[in-house]
Amino acid sequence: MAIIILGSMAFDAIETPFGKIDKIVGGSAIYIAYAASHLTQPLQQISIVGNDFPEEEMNELTKRGVQLNGLEIIPDKKSFFWSGKYHLDMNTRDTLVTDLNVLADFDPKVPEEYQGSEFLMLGNLMPALQISVINQLRTRPKLIVLDTMNFWIENTPDDLKKVLPMIDVLMINDSEARQLSSEFSMVRAAKKVLDMGPKFLIIKKGEHGALLFHENHVFFAPALPLEDVFDPTGAGDAFAGGFIGHIARTKNIGFENMKTAIIVGSAMASFCVEKFGPQRLKEITKKDIDIRLHEFVQLVNFDIDLV
Ligand code: AMP
Repeated sequence: MAIIILGSMAFDAIETPFGKIDKIVGGSAIYIAYAASHLTQPLQQISIVGNDFPEEEMNELTKRGVQLNGLEIIPDKKSFFWSGKYHLDMNTRDTLVTDLNVLADFDPKVPEEYQGSEFLMLGNLMPALQISVINQLRTRPKLIVLDTMNFWIENTPDDLKKVLPMIDVLMINDSEARQLSSEFSMVRAAKKVLDMGPKFLIIKKGEHGALLFHENHVFFAPALPLEDVFDPTGAGDAFAGGFIGHIARTKNIGFENMKTAIIVGSAMASFCVEKFGPQRLKEITKKDIDIRLHEFVQLVNFDIDLV
């Protein structure tokens, strides 16, 4: 089952309490694609880079079933650059630099070959571009998932409010849910955000797992307690890739299957944080993923006698 992925392809500079790297490939569409490629193929990328983006990275993506017909390469400009610094708890970070570069004039075009795809993953990017891609699709995909971040909640709130009724699943983290709803309680925040249009809402809480809200139902999935968290960059996108990858592989968009998809997403996020950038997502095998999924089952499996 094909998944169309819209998102950034970038260079990142990252500083964590455990190390620092000045230039590493990143971007929402990169993490989503590497995570989802372990579950289903083909993946149909829509993104933009400058003349500085490494060809080896594009070859690596192609090898993993990622189609790049929708990747625009601008010869005389630089790729998107983002820099972030993590606090000691690794759950919070400061964005130091956001240089849009090629992203500033990005006008995504859905290639003809992508028409008819059943799943659409709108990664973190300008909401106006997310709207444009939805509008270009002649057949509405079975499931539209959207990820966003504080940068767009603050800078383009009107466009964000416009896209929310057009999608099925919204993914944000807890502080973004509070920011978007002006509510402190997660349950109240979820109700308000669901009233803005999405049918399902996933609130990611970093090392504290994720919540799935739908109508009056709520499901909680833990994050795996990891001994070493090296670099949380891209964890949210790896989660998104695992989530939509599982849904596309099973072709089931029901609430019950979404619960499993959240566990798969959490597993992909848990790999992502083990090394700088998307490195770990490239290394893992099907066996690694199966072992990790089993660890998740063990983590939440218990018997209880009612009192
Ligand atoms: P995450 O840690 O899941 O929030 O994703 C981090 C990735 O998002 C990094 O690799 C960045 O290149 C990318 N990113 C950061 N800010 C933005 C933005 N404003 N728009 C699109 N992508 C971004």
